[in-house]
Amino acid sequence: MEKKHVYSFGQDGAAGAGLSKELLGGKGRGLAEMTSLGLCRPPRFHHQHRSVLNSDDEQGGKVPADVRELVLEAIEKIENEMGAEFGDSENPLLVSVRSGAAVSMPGMMDTVLNLGLTDVSVEGLSKKTDNPRMAWDAYRRLIQMFGDVAPGIEEGLRQMVPARRIKGKGGRGGRHGRSRPCYDLEAIVAEYKKVIEREHGSPFPQSAEDQLWAAIDAVFGSWNNKRAIEYRKLNDIRGLRGTAVNVQAMVYGNYGDTSGTGVCFTRNPSTGENKFYGEYLINAQGEDVVAGIRTPKPISTLHDVLPEVYDQLVEYKNMLESHFRDMQDIEFTIQEGKLFILQTRTGKRTAFAAIRIAVEMVEEEMINEREAVERIDPNDITQLLLPQFDSESRKKALDEGRIIAKGLPASPGAAVGKAVFDANDAVAAAERGEDAILIRVETSPVDVMGMAKSKGILTSRGGMTSHAAVVARGMGRCCVSGSKDISINEDEKFFTVPGTDIKVCEGEKVSLDGFRGEVMLGEVTTVDPEISGQFETFMSWVGRDSPAPRARQCRDTDGRQKGARTRRRRHRTRSHRAHVLQRGQDPQRSQMILANTEEERRAALDELLPHQQKDFESIFRLMNEKPVTIRTLDPPLHEFLPNDDDDQRELAKALGVDVSAVKDKVNSLHETNPMLGHRGCRLGITYPEITEMQVRAIFQAAVAVKKEGIVVYPEIMIPLVGTKAELADQEKVVRRVAKEVIDASGIELEYLVGTMIEIPRAALTAEEIAEVARVPSLRHKRPHSDGVRLQPGRLRRVQQRCTVGSGRLLSYDPFQVLDQTGVGQLVEAGVTQGRAGRANLKCGICGEHGGEPQSVKFCHRVGLDYVSCSPFRVPVARVAAAQAAVETPRK
Ligand code: ADP
Ligand code: MG
Ligand code: MG
Repeated sequence: MEKKHVYSFGQDGAAGAGLSKELLGGKGRGLAEMTSLGLCRPPRFHHQHRSVLNSDDEQGGKVPADVRELVLEAIEKIENEMGAEFGDSENPLLVSVRSGAAVSMPGMMDTVLNLGLTDVSVEGLSKKTDNPRMAWDAYRRLIQMFGDVAPGIEEGLRQMVPARRIKGKGGRGGRHGRSRPCYDLEAIVAEYKKVIEREHGSPFPQSAEDQLWAAIDAVFGSWNNKRAIEYRKLNDIRGLRGTAVNVQAMVYGNYGDTSGTGVCFTRNPSTGENKFYGEYLINAQGEDVVAGIRTPKPISTLHDVLPEVYDQLVEYKNMLESHFRDMQDIEFTIQEGKLFILQTRTGKRTAFAAIRIAVEMVEEEMINEREAVERIDPNDITQLLLPQFDSESRKKALDEGRIIAKGLPASPGAAVGKAVFDANDAVAAAERGEDAILIRVETSPVDVMGMAKSKGILTSRGGMTSHAAVVARGMGRCCVSGSKDISINEDEKFFTVPGTDIKVCEGEKVSLDGFRGEVMLGEVTTVDPEISGQFETFMSWVGRDSPAPRARQCRDTDGRQKGARTRRRRHRTRSHRAHVLQRGQDPQRSQMILANTEEERRAALDELLPHQQKDFESIFRLMNEKPVTIRTLDPPLHEFLPNDDDDQRELAKALGVDVSAVKDKVNSLHETNPMLGHRGCRLGITYPEITEMQVRAIFQAAVAVKKEGIVVYPEIMIPLVGTKAELADQEKVVRRVAKEVIDASGIELEYLVGTMIEIPRAALTAEEIAEVARVPSLRHKRPHSDGVRLQPGRLRRVQQRCTVGSGRLLSYDPFQVLDQTGVGQLVEAGVTQGRAGRANLKCGICGEHGGEPQSVKFCHRVGLDYVSCSPFRVPVARVAAAQAAVETPRK
């Protein structure tokens, strides 16, 4: 069908079935489909797409003359069908002018009802309908809505006219039915008109056509009102040009006791239960149900009031759900016992409801498994796995003003505990069996134990990739980072909210919402996620029949998170990545770092080895059969040493050295350029004994565990490689030590060695890096849970790090969402180049992007084999990967 400026739909069947949402807007499309279903016979309406009216003026503006012609022609069609005349004083046609973009933005834009009424035609309508109360109520509503949307009346009329008038004088008069005299309503109308004239600068238009143009402008313009802009930002709605406008003949829910208006869902939007759910009001119009002026009644009671209407509504809602094959959110109006459906759209739902609905619709054979997977927003999956605040309890906190600060939602979850301001205090609290929230300006590796022992972490500095955020995510701990609203005094152990008199001292209860990044005073009730059978069923469909990037989990060494791991065992990943030497193992670790000679260092390393080996053993056991990628020592060494005086003194004392030795070491190790400094492979090149020890620990662990009958498959990853030679150097060390251990054990063991592409140079020269060392030990059959035999591969990670600045200039946070146009090129170059050097190179990324749905989809498009992310995001990544595989066939 050719693109038109104006589309008409009506009983004559000139329906718009098959026209897209992009063209008609969601509301328009829903109405068009319903017309074609012959379902509700909404009085004819027509519709225009915003872009055809004023494509270069996003603020709205005047409707061009040629389009006006078309609009008036369409109005004429409605007039014929309704047997009324637009602008007529005796038999006026009234219409609504409704917004509706391609993506549903409920209530964010404007709608004007009862358009076409004037001082004269309100009398006409009174006579024609013999219902003056309804006519004056309609007029009152028109002026009020006009006031709400007219430019110059910022506050809206509702706020400006004293509430007393609306309440006391007829605003609630609806209850009294049509016999009630309408003097009060007339008085209110007079009042409203005065306000309009005063605030708007000109009187309320007394011509139906003027009203129409003004309303169309206002509705188009409402695309750019503050609410709508914020809603789009919040929901990441981009790439739309604006809203459509729907003009529709009015039906009257405020006609009397057999009339009404309501909203319903075909299934329960919060639980997903397949049970008709909704609310209605008798003798009311438009948004009365939503506005909360009167308390609406549950839909089931409509059965007692208007049984035939109720039955018809049930029939219609069933029809709509099976037509759209998804849960519908339906708006309806009843005029004198006749039912009209005014809107239908895919209903918004909680993550829990989404899963239940998807699974049950598969069971009902309404959709198939693949569609079920496609329908779930991967981000919602996280919600299902973490404790969260009870919504009632949070609302109470909000109402009581106890939400005192916001920060970044660095790591999801809900945590309640006593405020502590020091990692040791957190540990002490845990030992006393108390829940603690660790509050620090920022955290550093010395705080890690305290972080592990707290329920949640709050910092006033640092972003989504700050230490606190990264570590908390790795631990699955709730974290709100970088809360600029609070000012923390770590020494005196309290924080304040500047600009208020709020002060929170040690021991006081606080609640942290890691989903929203909120800090709340006192206790907010948490509820545990219920992982029902349906979620299990759902996850079993994910990625089942299409090759998608695999999701791996990324975490630190030591088995401390075993609990969490076991809890999520059902959503087990295919592999595991470990960072060596991140936590635990003080003081040997410090000793190793402080060593001044190779001899001293070797002595310290020898002591570290058994600890490391034990950690690896527990990981291998846990990950039975799955490959485990282990990255050798990566951070600069100074990160392992304490920064502040007290801790440095304590460490010196513990090690029996002078505090100046510690200080000197910290200073000498300090790195200004974290990516290029003396760390990663370069540290291993200077001190091969460090790499040796780690490799020995890994292989001794692997051998020991394999002897227990467990399948082990280590993959060693050398970090921060910039040149081929660096990788070659470290690879040699790995293979030498591995061979020693394996030969001595007398058993066979297969493994991989690879690197991580973290710096631009490596991405651009990946071809030559990929060529490094082809060693027979790589040729093997690899047991894989899906039974696929993989060719020898070279382990490769393309990790991109962006240092792009503040989120204000970008529409997304590059630390969360992969910068596809910039860094994405490096990723692509890395993959292409790397595979040019070695065709079956195994490629993946790690870091938080690995758990971000859009980024996962990008990874799929450029041909990565896997993504790696925090454990709690693994199911998210799996869903995103499965969706990507369906959307875009593999390159
Ligand atoms: P929103 O997008 O905010 O939901 P709508 O355009 O759906 O706005 O309008 C809000 C409400 O106004 C509808 O739910 C319906 O009750 C009422 N309404 C809109 N158009 C008409 C009409 N032609 N007749 C009767 N009521 C209408
Ligand atoms: Mg609405
Ligand atoms: Mg609506």
